[in-house]
Amino acid sequence: MTRLLPTSTAGSLPKPSWLAEPETLWSPWKLDGAALTEAKEDALRVALCEQQAAGIDIVSDGEQTRQHFVTTFIEHLEGVDFEKRETVTIRNRYEASVPTVVGEVSRQKPVFVEDAKFLRAQTSAPIKWALPGPMTMIDTLYDAHYKSREKLAWEFAVALNEEARELQEAGVDIIQFDEPAFNVFFEEVNDWGMATLERAMEGLTCEKAVHICYGYGIKANTDWKKTLGQEWRQYEEIFPSIRKSSVDLVSLECHNSHVPMDLIELIRGKKVMVGAIDVASNVIEKPEDVAATLREALNFVDADKLYPCTNCGMAPLSRDVARGKLAALVSGAAIVRSELQG
Ligand SMILES: [Zn+2]
Repeated sequence: MTRLLPTSTAGSLPKPSWLAEPETLWSPWKLDGAALTEAKEDALRVALCEQQAAGIDIVSDGEQTRQHFVTTFIEHLEGVDFEKRETVTIRNRYEASVPTVVGEVSRQKPVFVEDAKFLRAQTSAPIKWALPGPMTMIDTLYDAHYKSREKLAWEFAVALNEEARELQEAGVDIIQFDEPAFNVFFEEVNDWGMATLERAMEGLTCEKAVHICYGYGIKANTDWKKTLGQEWRQYEEIFPSIRKSSVDLVSLECHNSHVPMDLIELIRGKKVMVGAIDVASNVIEKPEDVAATLREALNFVDADKLYPCTNCGMAPLSRDVARGKLAALVSGAAIVRSELQG
């Protein structure tokens, strides 16, 4: 990007009510077959239009083609049985019924490549595509085959790398790996989590991002946040590994969070997607609120490496609120951009 402070979102946008139940995470599709394919493409077009109308610089599909940021990818892999479900505790936080790994996992066919080509054909703006990270994937499954989180993560990294290379081929400019699990399992991140992410990114020449947030604004997450104390220092444990990695951009939760902003100093040199929009609240930020968060981040990120963004995905919000937040992000970034350009 040549523009100073290019804006983007962490990923998901609300789905239209004709595609899936609004304001509901992981809501089932309302259509099937060819009608569903067409509806997903229409929703992708709408999501793109909303971003362009708001003035977002780096656009995405708004995750209109997936039900869940992890399981939709896993559904397309061999070795996972979606009928055989077990209840596990995700990120040490909430219980969920998840599919079971029953054999060797492999990617026999592309997952999002056609969707990415479709988005690429709609716009010449830079596009960002999100994939789950290996560590977050293994945390959303029951493993009855490998019996090793690390082994399974390496296998997923191989599948992710195949997908990522084809997404790059399809014209994606930034591939983002969502790793909220990095905020929870620090020892594993430093032991093998970062290494498996490197495996997923191997050979990519497009930009590589990692998104590490404190989760959507659902109750299990907001309850967990209450236990984290006044200062959230989780990033401190993993930033030294990230700084040494080949990751280009790091997407972080900064607005209304208890993350001490100075932790960002630990990844000096990386581009930082500074979350300046709170996705766990229906209150639409004022452009000045966004600007204040960005100004604070500028103490620790060089201006040419600051990418204003949202804290996380906006799938659970209403479309009106999400639209308002996109506009606030763009206006807030514009305030700081004009200050920087004097
Ligand atoms: Zn997130």
